[in-house]
Amino acid sequence: MAKVVYQGRSYERRDDETVLRCLLRNDVRAPYSCESGACQSCTMQATKGVIPSNAQEDLKETQKVLGYFKPCVCKPKGDLEVVALDDAHQQKQQLTVVEKSFLNDEILRLRLSCDESFKYHAGQFINLFKEDLIRSYSLASLPDSDRTLELHIKRVPLGVVSHWLCDDVQVGDQLSVAGPMGECFYHETGREEGLLAVGTGSGLAPLWGIVRDALTHGFDKPIILCHGGMTPELLYYVDELRLLEKRYGNFNYYPCVSGIDENALPADISWGFPNDVAFALQPDLVKWQLFLCGHPEMVINAKRKAFLQGVALQDIHADPFLPASPPA
Ligand SMILES: Cc1cc2nc3c(=O)[nH]c(=O)nc-3n(C[C@H](O)[C@H](O)[C@H](O)COP(=O)(O)OP(=O)(O)OC[C@H]3O[C@@H](n4cnc5c(N)ncnc54)[C@H](O)[C@@H]3O)c2cc1C
Repeated sequence: MAKVVYQGRSYERRDDETVLRCLLRNDVRAPYSCESGACQSCTMQATKGVIPSNAQEDLKETQKVLGYFKPCVCKPKGDLEVVALDDAHQQKQQLTVVEKSFLNDEILRLRLSCDESFKYHAGQFINLFKEDLIRSYSLASLPDSDRTLELHIKRVPLGVVSHWLCDDVQVGDQLSVAGPMGECFYHETGREEGLLAVGTGSGLAPLWGIVRDALTHGFDKPIILCHGGMTPELLYYVDELRLLEKRYGNFNYYPCVSGIDENALPADISWGFPNDVAFALQPDLVKWQLFLCGHPEMVINAKRKAFLQGVALQDIHADPFLPASPPA
């Protein structure tokens, strides 16, 4: 059996166990959230041993060189010596809530103060801490023009952190956050034929940033945004997106509703799931860049379908809003 040496103490790792699960089984208090390699909240540093490449996917090159890795997806072949990242290395910082408003019955918009030293791309996400709990939230703001960070938070039934943010956190409070991180952002390659953005619920947050980022940087090929909710009341930023459509001839916005009878919908709302609407509108997506955010099932299905239809994996940017794993 291989060993994990953590902060000087050695633990036997079972063959099929990740480094994180091995530590948790041995009552080590290690931070984690999604346990799928997406949120990066469990990132550690290896000081000895060979890190499998999948455990460094999506990390910055500088972090890879330093031996940072994601223990939740790491099953090394041999022994691995690891250390926890301290607050400085996690780049944790305190940001002040400067605005709090509800975009509909389910979704809260939070604006957080930030200065120019906070560098990010629209569409990336931050990790937000409530004591030991860590949750990821995507950035809807534009670094070049917005002076605050904007988050859209869906109130999840029985959700600890989303309820706390919706009900208890007040303007003026300080929130502890780390980041930004993630690869779901606009980056013109020069060879794409268009951008397709598909999201459900608060999955509009990163897309609102990404679409505006592309438009304000002069992207002049077609941009299609399909945003879905169960009912028309659960859509939001409809007026803002319609305005954007009027201003930019290459941008088309399709609000989609799947939870009520098709005949009861106004003509300017599409019926169905946003991924189905999107694939019907644009069946040929070869050389398009895709951005898929929100409900994990929608994101994973849409990613698979796009890949099977010939979209290169490097052109598919997906952030499934995976829930945090239950405490070990
Ligand atoms: C990369 C990334 C980006 C994300 N960005 C956003 C974002 O911009 N906005 C946003 O609102 N969320 C986002 N999320 C999800 C977010 O991190 C939390 O998982 C979510 O807010 C629920 O946390 P909670 O503490 O309220 O619920 P928890 O206490 O963790 O969960 C309570 C219960 O609800 C279930 N649950 C969790 N999430 C959902 C859900 N979405 N729908 C239905 N049931 C659920 C859990 O399985 C559990 O049974 C993102 C997640 C990832 C990985």
